[in-house]
Amino acid sequence: MTLVERAYRHLLSMLMTVKIAPGERIPIDSVARQLGISQTPIREALSQLEAEKLVYKTTNVGYRASPPMTPEEVQDLYALRLLVEPYAAARAAESMDEQELAALQAIQEKMDSIVDRSEQAYAEIADADAQLHRLIAHGSGNRLIEETIERLHAHFQIFRSLYQNSAQPNAPDAAADEHRRIIAALLARDPAAAEEAVREHLMHSRRRMDRAI
Ligand SMILES: [Zn+2]
Repeated sequence: MTLVERAYRHLLSMLMTVKIAPGERIPIDSVARQLGISQTPIREALSQLEAEKLVYKTTNVGYRASPPMTPEEVQDLYALRLLVEPYAAARAAESMDEQELAALQAIQEKMDSIVDRSEQAYAEIADADAQLHRLIAHGSGNRLIEETIERLHAHFQIFRSLYQNSAQPNAPDAAADEHRRIIAALLARDPAAAEEAVREHLMHSRRRMDRAI
């Protein structure tokens, strides 16, 4: 693992588990000391996280963790995802190639292998979730859909909001069953089942978010 990757993973899990709270300043010097590395890889990791909209840069204080999503933003996000992602899943079920199906299987194995509930594991689940939804968007064969979903950068934001709400410690387990259904339908090349599984998943996910914010 490179120093940038190490810094990225460290910061990601701090952000996802709100050890760095929304809006909080990120002290680059103390993160560097903590990891025993220089500031350069930390800055590079932060610019990656900025592209993923988890942090933002301000002129005087450097980087801050992004503010939480507002209820309106959550509503708009799920309205769009519900329009686009079930359709993308149906198309993906028809047209994914062998390589993409193998990647799906790998994501399922990755998700199954994360059994502990550490903070690092939580960030990894979020990452696997992002990969799954990205793969479906790509598998749809529709570039505009892929770009649209990519641009939302929804997954880390969603997982961060859910982590903040300790009333739902089992949210990752519930999502795991929903993801299993989606992956099974895609592997079976069943467009109707894939469409339905993604719609169900997004509706459940929206309900979890409604309770969290
Ligand atoms: Zn998901």
